[in-house]
Amino acid sequence: MLFKKIYYIFLACLEPLLDSFSSRLCFFCRNNLGALVCDNCVKEHLSLKKKVIDYKILDNFFLDHEQVFHPKIFYLINFFKKTSYLIKKAKYTRPHFSKFFAQQLSFFFVENLNQILTDDVNLAYVEDFPYSSIKLNIFITHSPMYLEKEKNRAFNFAALLAEDLSSSLLDHLQKSRNMKIIFQSSRGIYQHDLAKIEFLENFFVRIKDTKPLFNLGQESRISELSNAFKINKSISLGLEDLNVLLIIDDICTTGSTMLELMKLSRIYADFDEQIGFTLYGRNLI
Ligand SMILES: [Zn+2]
Repeated sequence: MLFKKIYYIFLACLEPLLDSFSSRLCFFCRNNLGALVCDNCVKEHLSLKKKVIDYKILDNFFLDHEQVFHPKIFYLINFFKKTSYLIKKAKYTRPHFSKFFAQQLSFFFVENLNQILTDDVNLAYVEDFPYSSIKLNIFITHSPMYLEKEKNRAFNFAALLAEDLSSSLLDHLQKSRNMKIIFQSSRGIYQHDLAKIEFLENFFVRIKDTKPLFNLGQESRISELSNAFKINKSISLGLEDLNVLLIIDDICTTGSTMLELMKLSRIYADFDEQIGFTLYGRNLI
């Protein structure tokens, strides 16, 4: 356990140092361009995609609980054989990768902000939406790891991503003051000021040591995940005005984990919108 912690500190400190001494080869094109993924390959391989959610796993919960939209999950990179190698590296041995990916997530989030928050609204008329003095707050949290597992692995990549994304978005917010965001709540569609971005560490807790889901079929995934999580009630949210929860995960295949977390936060916390935001994903249907 202690060894793992030391290993993590070693990785977290040494990696940036190593990067500054040797230029990195781009993961996709192998050109020596000093970045994990070079600008050209970012353009080619990274773009924000909305996950198509299989309505079979939505179950009656989301149909019964009124909200403006159906649950939304976005992802940045298509999960295929080649990138599965990259995610394994990031997840298990390279915590420092979170900084690079968080910057990308932050860039795409800001670029597509109105699309993410308003969905089907015709954004050609963005400027025409009336202004509301109700402020918008964005809370960022992550998919939780079972505590024993986290101790063994020394870090939870989704948590690192969420933390780095929060600081990257905060930087952005400080640079662009008076950022207006179009948001559709139950009150209608308005432009709002972005008031705050807050990182919620361990907002969700995994109370069941779930089996890896990738081998399981849809039904088994759902039963494996039932009662697997709870909300950490010791975190006080201080929700005022409009509040959006961004749930960050590294990988999303069917979306069943994300939907379980969304269900919990809909039951126990009063967010106006919750959005899944993941690094890797794919559309299976
Ligand atoms: Zn490249």
